[in-house]
Amino acid sequence: MKGGFTLTFFGVRGSYPVPGEGTRRYGGNTSSLLLQAAGRSVILDAGTGIIQAGRLLSARRGTRHPIHIFLTHLHSDHIMGLPFFAPMFDPRAEIVLHYPEQRGHDSRRALEALFLPPYSPITLQGIKARLRFEPLAARDGVAVIDLGSGLEVAHARHDSHPLLGVLIYRVGFAGGRLVYATDVESPEGFGGPIRELGAGADLLVHDAQYFETDYLGNGESPRGPRRGFGHSTVAMAARNAAACRVKRLYLFHYDPTYPDARLDEMLALARKEFRRTFLAREGKSIIIRR
Ligand SMILES: [Zn+2]
Ligand SMILES: [Zn+2]
Repeated sequence: MKGGFTLTFFGVRGSYPVPGEGTRRYGGNTSSLLLQAAGRSVILDAGTGIIQAGRLLSARRGTRHPIHIFLTHLHSDHIMGLPFFAPMFDPRAEIVLHYPEQRGHDSRRALEALFLPPYSPITLQGIKARLRFEPLAARDGVAVIDLGSGLEVAHARHDSHPLLGVLIYRVGFAGGRLVYATDVESPEGFGGPIRELGAGADLLVHDAQYFETDYLGNGESPRGPRRGFGHSTVAMAARNAAACRVKRLYLFHYDPTYPDARLDEMLALARKEFRRTFLAREGKSIIIRR
């Protein structure tokens, strides 16, 4: 790992966990990615996937750098793994939790509630790690956070996701760049700061919740159209990848009702529009820069 910049997917499904036979190949946990560079760890979102990431980080003792967790938003599929993240209970660990400040809502209190009764048997005193809360202020344009050793995290808001929008992140190290754009709906394509964030990225991890037919409501599903639900179709992901001229696109945040076989269909569709498309798969590691 030394000197390299790597990504590992720990949870790739959207909305709620779907363990079982139908999701065995791509995994049933919800959103969580681990990025590692220069001995440092950055986690994007804390869905149930973060539980396995935590086990891995705990097994590797002796890291002197804090673990940085960046949340896109506070929907449960992006935070529900936090109370089960093993480093929280390790007195040697330091964890920095970065989260979007959302007007009219006390996000910190909402996050703390995850650790308190009645949702949890533990209390904040039960957390043994040094835990720091870092709100990311609502603002226009791109903001950049320097984590040291050349590792940098940039973010910008996207307002399509109900009700409070999300943060889109770009993690950079040694010239390599990963962009994480989940829980976004962009029928007109990315514009402004998000286009700027995505431009020329090595890897774009993009919401691909729906097939076009289900989004428009003319498929066989009885659930009706999904327009306005704040998620992308495969075509939206492919178009944004092409417009941003990224090197590789990873489809992500699949609708929980789609079993693995349907994801294979998604991949075939996406590759017609953007050839270098792949499916995010739980447990898969990718070298972004050697
Ligand atoms: Zn989600
Ligand atoms: Zn969401």
